Amino acid sequence: MREFAFELRLCAHLEASGVPSVGDAGIVARQLGMSVHAAGGRIVDAVCVLEGPEFDARTDLTSETIPPAVLDADVPVGEYERVTRVFDGPPERARTLAERGADTGFLDLDRRGGQTVVRQHARYPDWVGGLVGVENKPDLGRPGDLEAQLRHDASLADLDYAVLATESHVTRAHLNRFPDEIGVWRVDFDSNEPIDVVREPEPLDSAGSGLEVLDSEPGKTNVRPVAAAEKARQRRRVAERAYGKGWRTYDLPDCARIARGEEGDAAALPFCAYKDRLVDPASECGADCPGYEPADAPDADLDAERERNTPWNADAGGRRRQSGLDQF
Ligand code: SF4
Repeated sequence: MREFAFELRLCAHLEASGVPSVGDAGIVARQLGMSVHAAGGRIVDAVCVLEGPEFDARTDLTSETIPPAVLDADVPVGEYERVTRVFDGPPERARTLAERGADTGFLDLDRRGGQTVVRQHARYPDWVGGLVGVENKPDLGRPGDLEAQLRHDASLADLDYAVLATESHVTRAHLNRFPDEIGVWRVDFDSNEPIDVVREPEPLDSAGSGLEVLDSEPGKTNVRPVAAAEKARQRRRVAERAYGKGWRTYDLPDCARIARGEEGDAAALPFCAYKDRLVDPASECGADCPGYEPADAPDADLDAERERNTPWNADAGGRRRQSGLDQF
């Protein structure tokens, strides 16, 4: 199975059935950057955000990602403060960040004494119970950078658990090549129990410091220490991105051959009748495809589907949302 289709089906399954040997998946999202220093360096295929003690408060807060710079600032709860005292940098940056926070519904903006002021209407909740990262490699015969990716995850440890998911038969030699902490799942979507846990993941030291692998070449690996506080910020950033993004990040094409086929797990996925398989609309669909038949794209409300199948609340924050600084 192609990696995109494998990834969608696995995300749907995790969302519906939970993370084996860990628990409910909470929020499932695709393609999130886990690196702290190497921007865009390590993209994990799927991340599950486990539910923490105040998870429900997060679902009530806003349906969107709260920008990291807004969470990094010391915005008072309840009491208004001038935006230029809350956010570092030039006034224009401060106003822009305050407006972005207000657009998500997390911050309130007002005018007091001729100044733009801002507050949090609620305390940011303790909602993240853990992060599980899943690297999808359907075919271990074509591993690419797999070993380096798994070494990165085990060494940096800004996930709580890291897992490799594959359709291949997993040998002892494979297991010996991956760090001991990395869990391994063999996945067969035709089976009643699609995930066979070959090796359970061990908890990573997500609360401690870590070493980020920046790059490596034969005989030499460049790493950079990452302090616990930096990891904590990155984990919050990833959890927020996961909350806003989810995994239904595809659009259905304007082709008569696409169908939202029932692929199990209560999720309707982009199934192409011409290719008789799931397709990646962004890279496979369009006039260049020999099976393309122009038509209106099927009606699909992916947000509604996400809301039906997960705790995510599509309307949270909307009723509080202001029009930012434009209203003044
Ligand atoms: S454009 Fe091609 S791949 Fe996409 S749905 Fe149509 S026939 Fe299938």
